Amino acid sequence: MNTTPFTGGTRVDVGGVPVSTDHYIGGQRVASPFTFEDRSPLDWAVKLADVSRGDEGIAAAAVTAAVDAFPEWAAMGVKGRGEVMRRVADLIDAHVPELAAVECLDMAMLEESLRLRVLARGARNFRAYADLAEEYEERVWSSNGTANRVMRMPAGPTVVITPWNAPFMLSTWKCAPALAAGNTVILKPAEWSPLSCSLLADLCHEAGMPAGVFNVVQGIGEEVGAALVSDPRVKRISFTGSPETARHIGRAAAANIVPFTAELGGKGPFVVFADADLEAAAKKAAGQFDDSGQVCLAGTRLLVEASVRDEFLALFHRFTDAHVLGDSRDTATTISPMIHPDHLNRVAGFVDRARAAGDTIVRGGQRSDLGGDDGLWYEPTLIEPRSNDSEVVQHEIFGPVLTFQTFADEAEAVALANSTPYGLSAIVYTGSQERAERMGRAVRAGTIWTNCFLVRDLTAPFGGCGISGIGREGGDYALDFYSDLKMFQVLDGTTS
Ligand code: NAD
Repeated sequence: MNTTPFTGGTRVDVGGVPVSTDHYIGGQRVASPFTFEDRSPLDWAVKLADVSRGDEGIAAAAVTAAVDAFPEWAAMGVKGRGEVMRRVADLIDAHVPELAAVECLDMAMLEESLRLRVLARGARNFRAYADLAEEYEERVWSSNGTANRVMRMPAGPTVVITPWNAPFMLSTWKCAPALAAGNTVILKPAEWSPLSCSLLADLCHEAGMPAGVFNVVQGIGEEVGAALVSDPRVKRISFTGSPETARHIGRAAAANIVPFTAELGGKGPFVVFADADLEAAAKKAAGQFDDSGQVCLAGTRLLVEASVRDEFLALFHRFTDAHVLGDSRDTATTISPMIHPDHLNRVAGFVDRARAAGDTIVRGGQRSDLGGDDGLWYEPTLIEPRSNDSEVVQHEIFGPVLTFQTFADEAEAVALANSTPYGLSAIVYTGSQERAERMGRAVRAGTIWTNCFLVRDLTAPFGGCGISGIGREGGDYALDFYSDLKMFQVLDGTTS
């Protein structure tokens, strides 16, 4: 590549890529006097960057920029906006190696997976929403002599708050529909992995997105995040993160009567029936340790038909034994380190309490000695709980920790699958189409996969039941959320 869009403002070298540590507001890099430290999970001793720590003033400036830019962006219409968004998509594709290098160091997701899968999805999000928004801006229903015209109006400045896992992809998943719908955006990435979203600002700038349409504000959630979601000029809030934070954001949204969506945690059941291809099921079950289990959609509760318990477990152990803990830049590595020492300790705390309470640690259950005292790897862990009420069954751990339970029949499988307050995803392995159909209807979750995992079309609805979330993203569902729908009724002359 001959040119780099990664210029301007204060830059630090992250894996050979110059990354801005400033905010991006109104088309310009803006620094804060205070900073927060960003370290790499791959080597915690090394500081990657001191990143600008936004405050109320920065939040207000970003919302002002988004308010000012809104009329022009909204007036560009879906075609004009789509042209800019497709240029962003092309730039993402062109800069995958740099994005992957930075996100791998910052978040420790496997670099190969970032290159081949995750970042390409970021580009697809921009392209897909540019296309989808053009498919219809208005729908018409004719009845009783009237044409009921339903129009999408851009809603206004939108705050997008994202978590630390897959920060670039998850941010594009929310920002792309917001922008396509005609809204201006203020993105607040998570403070544990803020850097790849800073590069997204560079790419939007390079693509010619008008100043103030897309803004990135860095900082701590309780500080600048809370200020952003409380600003009464904000017209939509889109959040992905934990249920605890969603409660705070929901209160702020309620105070200003602003619609918000919340994509939250999961505790997905991974149900295996005796008639399934057990080898395929066990392989996929061991794959739930990928990304150190820091995946909201992971099937973390293994529920296996009792008659195949031993056969399944033998296969599961074989596949889990093949995992390689290591540096995420190494293609042989399958299990990356955890994001942060605090998170590692949180995960270890769940396992330690389970052990103390009498749950059986079937395998793992401790930190790996990889990386010495600073190492953030945790061994892939399987726990057989003493009861379905065990904390490790009922709470999201968000680490490489799975639970193992058996069931006698389909009714018990359904009851166990539906027995937590979460409802984000479920995975079912069975050889019977009829059973798959019944399970698909009976299990309460926003997404259910049969004999596969993570396969989905971007136009399908995505979201959670229970404490896994409010609202749906994906396809038209997202475009409707980011729009104010207007019914405009006129006589259509079909009756006199
Ligand atoms: P988190 O809730 O701690 O933080 C998420 C974001 O919210 C961060 O940017 C943080 O700075 C910000 N924040 C924190 N307090 C805030 C406040 N008071 N006001 C405004 N913003 C605030 O979550 P996390 O630890 O970063 O992410 C892990 C969680 O995210 C897990 O529960 C995981 O399951 C969930 N997640 C869900 C999905 C999904 O699509 N459903 C995807 C990825 C992650």
